[in-house]
Amino acid sequence: MTVARILDDKGREVFTTQPHRTLKEVVELLASKGVGAVVVSDASQSVLGILSERDVVRVLGRHGASALEDPVSRHMTPKVITVTRDDTIEHVMQTMTEGRFRHVPVVEDGRLIGIISIGDVVKRHVNALDSERQALREYIATA
Ligand code: AMP
Repeated sequence: MTVARILDDKGREVFTTQPHRTLKEVVELLASKGVGAVVVSDASQSVLGILSERDVVRVLGRHGASALEDPVSRHMTPKVITVTRDDTIEHVMQTMTEGRFRHVPVVEDGRLIGIISIGDVVKRHVNALDSERQALREYIATA
């Protein structure tokens, strides 16, 4: 299964923020949208960074609640690993495992076109395993 297929299924909506926004604004966005990360981008939809709930927890643990007024640019991860539409679900899983993160933006021609979370990957993987198991059961039953 490809990234394009997952996006067709789940949609292409990505919640984004800008570097000058505050952490407080991002926390509100994460909470209201029920997501674990936002992509930091500019008007041209190029990816400048990513900020996840884990970053927020780390900042609060180190600096306390006053850091909520800090700009996103100070605490985001600026070197973002991305995937393309043609990458496979196996590649995405390997990328997340090796990088120890749970979100991967999808980029095409330098522009953000979607995001895959570990939840999306696990859901499709479990469905694929279920279908395979069902097919094997039917094969055995008719043999
Ligand atoms: P997560 O597991 O997605 O909550 O992220 C864990 C850490 O990895 C945080 O510091 C994120 O900013 C960072 N991170 C998340 N996704 C990516 C990504 N695709 N590329 C690089 N860093 C990331």
